[in-house]
Amino acid sequence: MLAVVVGGGIAGPATAMALQAVGVDAVILEARAAGRRGGSWFTISPNGLAALAAIDALDVVRGLGVPTRTNVMMGATGRELGVLPLGAPLDDGTPALSFRRPDLAAALLDEARRRGIEVHDAARAESATTTPDGATVAVADGRRFEADLVIGADGIHSVVRAAIDPDAPAGRYVGLTNFGGITRDTPIASTLPPDSWYFVFGRRAFFGALPTPAGDVVWFANVPREPISPAERAATPVDRWQEILTDLATGDHGPFAELIGGGELELVADNTYDMPSVPVWHRGRLGLVGDAIHAPAPSSGQGASMALEDAVEMASSIAAADSVTGGFAAFEATRRARVEKVVAVGARASSTKTPGGLRRVVNDAVMRLVFRYAVTERSQAWMFDHRVRLDPVGGAGT
Ligand SMILES: Cc1cc2nc3c(=O)[nH]c(=O)nc-3n(C[C@H](O)[C@H](O)[C@H](O)COP(=O)(O)OP(=O)(O)OC[C@H]3O[C@@H](n4cnc5c(N)ncnc54)[C@H](O)[C@@H]3O)c2cc1C
Repeated sequence: MLAVVVGGGIAGPATAMALQAVGVDAVILEARAAGRRGGSWFTISPNGLAALAAIDALDVVRGLGVPTRTNVMMGATGRELGVLPLGAPLDDGTPALSFRRPDLAAALLDEARRRGIEVHDAARAESATTTPDGATVAVADGRRFEADLVIGADGIHSVVRAAIDPDAPAGRYVGLTNFGGITRDTPIASTLPPDSWYFVFGRRAFFGALPTPAGDVVWFANVPREPISPAERAATPVDRWQEILTDLATGDHGPFAELIGGGELELVADNTYDMPSVPVWHRGRLGLVGDAIHAPAPSSGQGASMALEDAVEMASSIAAADSVTGGFAAFEATRRARVEKVVAVGARASSTKTPGGLRRVVNDAVMRLVFRYAVTERSQAWMFDHRVRLDPVGGAGT
């Protein structure tokens, strides 16, 4: 059996490797050309790392990750609002790890290639079709790829999702724009709590910083505002964005004005979308994984972890079913409730960072109560402590 996986981000290579492990050959089509890509950092929590371990890919990428045990939440005036552990470590002691997003994607693609999976760069899928006997993907340069099934791992603006259901909803703007960067070799690194994201609910924006073992600090800013238009993006040079962000951080607790002023922006003016509920997850021999079906807002800290869980569950479902459509249906039955709950968590977390939300909850005392009683290690255990298994390993598939 052969699968074409559209998308070589996080879900794509993981799904291709998981399928290969259960006896299904896979080919990956990635729209972008090979080469170094810009992008910010994200955290894979233990549930996502367990999915990487299930496809024997954790050891391959572990060295790229920065251990991240807790989120430390601070108010604008410097009052600690709460400390949230990022789930129980794996049995071998591995805690959550933060990665530079494009570096993790590139490492997963390299590992897929090393395992003999064909990866086609600069192969942008334009359409996907399904018949009772097979499925086809047409690529922008005229090539066509035929297979027994097609899995769309092509992110929030998925072409495969549109082929499955032309009426599928589009992403929903969550009211925040995203900027991310790095400040290299800075003494600020040793002033931040180790192995932790240090978050500040600032008066005008939400900031996060993570010190790396190399002595750098990775940081981001979520700025509540209307989406940034292509015209504004084109007209605003990177150093102007840096000035704007530095101004937004000035006067609030934390080292953000200095970090941003002295650092390099790697993620510039990214409008943040989520995908609350996609009614149709599969049609015929076309299915979906990752952000294409359930993009949670970045505030959930779970998008990539959910994508990795999907990869393992999709392969298990396909291998155990007696038809491709049966496999897709089993995957949806296993995943829908969990991923939609995570999207809801992300939407709530984002709303505390938007202007109305900031005004509503800026009061430090309220936030302290939230982190003491509502958003706690215990209340989040369902998310972080979930463990997927590749099952049946080496199964036949149909
Ligand atoms: C700023 C930011 C911070 C985040 N922080 C976190 C975090 O801390 N923790 C976390 O778990 N998640 C986080 N996320 C979410 C996470 O990045 C996504 O959920 C995750 O990358 C989803 O993986 P994916 O493979 O489904 O989609 P993507 O990573 O978007 O990959 C999709 C791939 O498909 C390719 N593609 C698109 N269209 C086509 C096409 N037509 N043909 C071929 N290829 C195509 C794209 O080029 C891309 O490589 C964050 C997201 C953002 C934006």
